[in-house]
Amino acid sequence: MSALLLDGHVFAGEILAKVKIDAKALRDSGRPAHLAALIVGHAGASEVYLRNQKKACAEADVDFELHQLAETVTEPEAITELGRLNADPKVTGIILHQPLPPHIDERRMREALDPAKDVESMTPANFGRLVMGQFTIAPSTASAALEMARRARPDMTGLECVIIGHSEIVGKPLALLLLQSARNSPTVTTCHIATRDLRLHTLRADLLFVAAGVPGLVKRDMVKPGATVIDIGINRVKGADGKTRTVGDVEPGVADVAAHLSPVPGGVGPITVAVLLRNSVQLAQRSNPTR
Ligand code: NAD
Repeated sequence: MSALLLDGHVFAGEILAKVKIDAKALRDSGRPAHLAALIVGHAGASEVYLRNQKKACAEADVDFELHQLAETVTEPEAITELGRLNADPKVTGIILHQPLPPHIDERRMREALDPAKDVESMTPANFGRLVMGQFTIAPSTASAALEMARRARPDMTGLECVIIGHSEIVGKPLALLLLQSARNSPTVTTCHIATRDLRLHTLRADLLFVAAGVPGLVKRDMVKPGATVIDIGINRVKGADGKTRTVGDVEPGVADVAAHLSPVPGGVGPITVAVLLRNSVQLAQRSNPTR
């Protein structure tokens, strides 16, 4: 079998086409969507994501501003900056980039973010709404991975689904999104670093999502023939030629057994940016008193 590669750029283009129409309507109303990105210290792993966000905002006519605080900033100072963005009427959405330096408590930062401007649905209030199924926007990477999988498997009812990774930004919200339907959800198993026998689980999976941040973690002999495999991992590795390139968490050989595989780069990544913009536009629409 040779897996069908799921092209994230195509799906992202479809999402962005609609975003552009909505962003233009907001601009015409005099209250454009305006995304503020807050980073503490170096962007690190977020650098590519940030660059792509900026580019996509420019293309979709969504205003974008970057607030990069020094690595040495104190937690109260970072919270004050967040409070300033919360209070700024022109800012309609805020994304808090991770990771934060160890001296800054990520949970306290998330609590300080205005839920009405929370484009990644990471505040306790919005995460709680996700648990209860009372949400309109969801964390962008988890949404992107699910939307990509749905293209390949529109009906997931009762499928065996395995997620590798249980972070609050990817694995946990993805499990919650997959379990939204009372009758048509797949059966979801979430694996993580303490899972005893990963292969035991992955071999059962009709749908396999991988978000561990470990290059080549999933090998060909760990995948059920005909499975849909969504590789969310983004890892920068140095090749034998000394050049650094981006790879996922899934070995390329998996394409020989899977029915569908999302490539890295060019898979979930572009869709994540498109969903982030869609979230930003939706929050701006909600905050726009003229609509
Ligand atoms: P994280 O470090 O917060 O979490 C990693 C998760 O993987 C944890 O649940 C951990 O228990 C699990 N894990 C680690 N090693 C494992 C192993 N050997 N076996 C089983 N489970 C293991 O990472 P994160 O923020 O969730 O990101 C995960 C990956 O997704 C990273 O590569 C990141 O760059 C990528 N990512 C991609 C996008 C995108 O747009 N495509 C967005 C965010 C993150």
